[in-house]
Amino acid sequence: MCGIFAIVDHPEAAHLTGIGLAALQHRGQESAGLAVANAGKLAVCRQVGSVAHVLRPDLLQQLVGTSAIGHVRYATSGDQRARDAQPLISAQAGHQLAIAHNGHLTNARPLRRALDRGNSPFATGTDTEVILHLLARHPGPDLAKRLAAVLADVQGAYTLAVSDGVQTVVARDPRGWRPLVLGRKPSRLGTAWLAASETVALSACGAEVVREVQPGEIVTLGRQGVGASEFLSPQLPRRACVFELVYFARPDSDLFGQGVFATRHRLGEQLASEQPVEADVVVPIPDSGTAAALGYARRSGLPYEPGLLRAPEGGRTFIQPTQALRELGVRRKLQPVPELVRGMRLVLVDDSLVRGTTSRQAIALLRQAGAKEIHLRIAAPPMQWPCWYGIDTPDRQELLAARLDAVSIAQWLGADSIGYLSEPGLLRAVGGDGWCTACFSGVYPLPLEV
Ligand code: SF4
Repeated sequence: MCGIFAIVDHPEAAHLTGIGLAALQHRGQESAGLAVANAGKLAVCRQVGSVAHVLRPDLLQQLVGTSAIGHVRYATSGDQRARDAQPLISAQAGHQLAIAHNGHLTNARPLRRALDRGNSPFATGTDTEVILHLLARHPGPDLAKRLAAVLADVQGAYTLAVSDGVQTVVARDPRGWRPLVLGRKPSRLGTAWLAASETVALSACGAEVVREVQPGEIVTLGRQGVGASEFLSPQLPRRACVFELVYFARPDSDLFGQGVFATRHRLGEQLASEQPVEADVVVPIPDSGTAAALGYARRSGLPYEPGLLRAPEGGRTFIQPTQALRELGVRRKLQPVPELVRGMRLVLVDDSLVRGTTSRQAIALLRQAGAKEIHLRIAAPPMQWPCWYGIDTPDRQELLAARLDAVSIAQWLGADSIGYLSEPGLLRAVGGDGWCTACFSGVYPLPLEV
């Protein structure tokens, strides 16, 4: 999973990109980077590490330019090395291009094999580089039209920000898997236009949210606004990632036309209706379980207590690269509040259960703090299938619910009971149709080409 950002027509483009990427840090903590355009030339700064580590103010100060694209990365293809940090940049036949990508291309492997045969050596292990190579084969003055020609052959989940030093375009795949929003803010140059994976990045920059980039839309950002867009055809049924709403996005973002916090609250209410339990208090696993726990408490009538607190610098354990680091991360980030849980029967609410690392450690901490009973309630169905579209759950063996039944999971976690939200309940809470639920249902909207 990754986050992307773009801005045009602002004299402090690099600094604002740094601010926007910091607001998207939860989407990827392995690497960060940006490419700044100045007088038609691109300068790139990208490295393994957090946004604060890679994009230091003194470095940003040196990156002069009025437009920029940026990226935070959690690898779903390629590896953690600096060469795979984005934006990727190429300079073929004297023409520079920089690209930032969120998602995963399902036909990257066959495309890459074909490009390899055509003598296009790859510099990284990422699927994103395929698009750079294809763009180099489609020269022309209009970057959006070039990208439209290339994306006609590309399958899978993507949002993109691409710059050739003069034009900046953003794009979203025809099924709208990953979120992308447009915003604007006043600038000494007139109006600056921005695009970001989540609305929080626009708010952090003091920008007004204008609208979502539509599925299949390619937008050129410029002083005149967003002008006429290119649209990829054919129009396909929307398949927005429901897991963005369940877990990944920040609760203070608006995503796919709905507020994330309010959606998670509804998931908790639905969960309380489906999975009631006799208990004294509702406790969230913070922060991702907080909204669902509030919803559970509201619907069940039980009091809500913050019986676990999260250390401010804890980071997200789900996107730590190894199991050992994930377990250490949980111990460091969660602290029980003994006076709130001692002798109590708890409903412990989390947004989802992936590997079980956080839940297991949280339950152990709450037991040590004196909790009498712990009933784990999960505001999503059992996650049993890997994601092929940009979330790093590649191995089914890593998914607890794919290996064990509910009773065995409760035993392994140390819980007195476990209960999940049903898939119909999930869909009722997020509303409408057009969702990808493959990691819960095993029904994949698009095959992975090998
Ligand atoms: S499989 Fe799950 S995580 Fe992946 S895109 Fe679909 S809903 Fe999202």
